[in-house]
Amino acid sequence: MKDNETYQVFLDIWHDVMLYLFIGSVAISALIFLIYIFRYLAAGSAKAKYDLANEREIKTLLITNYILAFAIFCLVNQTYVEMVSLGITWKLTRIFIGIFIATLHAYVAFLVFKYYYPGKLEKRLKKLRFTPRINPSTGNKMKLLSEDEEDSYLDEGMQAEENAFSVDYDVWIDEATGETKIEKYKGHLHALECDRCGFQTLKLEKEEVLVQPTDTTDGEILKEYKCSYCGRIKRKTTNLTSNVDRERDPSKSSTDPFKTGKKVESIVMEIHTADGDNKVFEFQGIEQAKGFLAEFTVEKLRH
Ligand SMILES: [Zn+2]
Repeated sequence: MKDNETYQVFLDIWHDVMLYLFIGSVAISALIFLIYIFRYLAAGSAKAKYDLANEREIKTLLITNYILAFAIFCLVNQTYVEMVSLGITWKLTRIFIGIFIATLHAYVAFLVFKYYYPGKLEKRLKKLRFTPRINPSTGNKMKLLSEDEEDSYLDEGMQAEENAFSVDYDVWIDEATGETKIEKYKGHLHALECDRCGFQTLKLEKEEVLVQPTDTTDGEILKEYKCSYCGRIKRKTTNLTSNVDRERDPSKSSTDPFKTGKKVESIVMEIHTADGDNKVFEFQGIEQAKGFLAEFTVEKLRH
């Protein structure tokens, strides 16, 4: 039968092509995965590892699995050779089974790496972020400064950025030498736990300044988060302070008589009593003046 011969030749070519495509796609998938692992291991610092994992890891794992899904399709299309040689219907059936299994693999991979894996990744990212840094010039372990401590090491632009947008600066200090290392973390790359579905899939979508701050009034910023799993949209407005020091410096609270936005170098105080005594005092700074006021009695004026 002529037709059957043609079909057999076609099947042989088909099986060869499927074999090569299978080998090729497994190789490409493995290569992409290995390149990622290599880059991760070769990344010099914990911060470099953090950035790579944060930006690339999930994408890499998804792509490798999609390619593997294609490899599975090719693998299925080389099986049951004898049965398929009986007729075209078997061949078509095999193609559909191949598509079905490959789609299933891709879909499961999608679910795992989109919704389950980010929570695990987040834990590793936290570890990387808070691993004590080593000062390369001394080999000393550095210490991470707290939010309050770090302000004096950040310039005004950085502080404003931290206040307004979802950016975090970490300041590491070598306590022996005073050397510092500043690392920047961007909030929008970073997923939060969704308060509705519980997955680590809530991401910052946009930030918009609603009211610009002035020297005397606070502004307002709107942050919009979206969950890629359940679709929850969360909007949050927060204050945007123009003077970045205002809310952090305790000496500027409203009960403080020296409330000021400026650095004070000296204070001159002139005290007049009801019986006509007066005296001038000079202080080197706010703390000194406060200490004086706390202990002040009118009797002291007479000496
Ligand atoms: Zn959600």
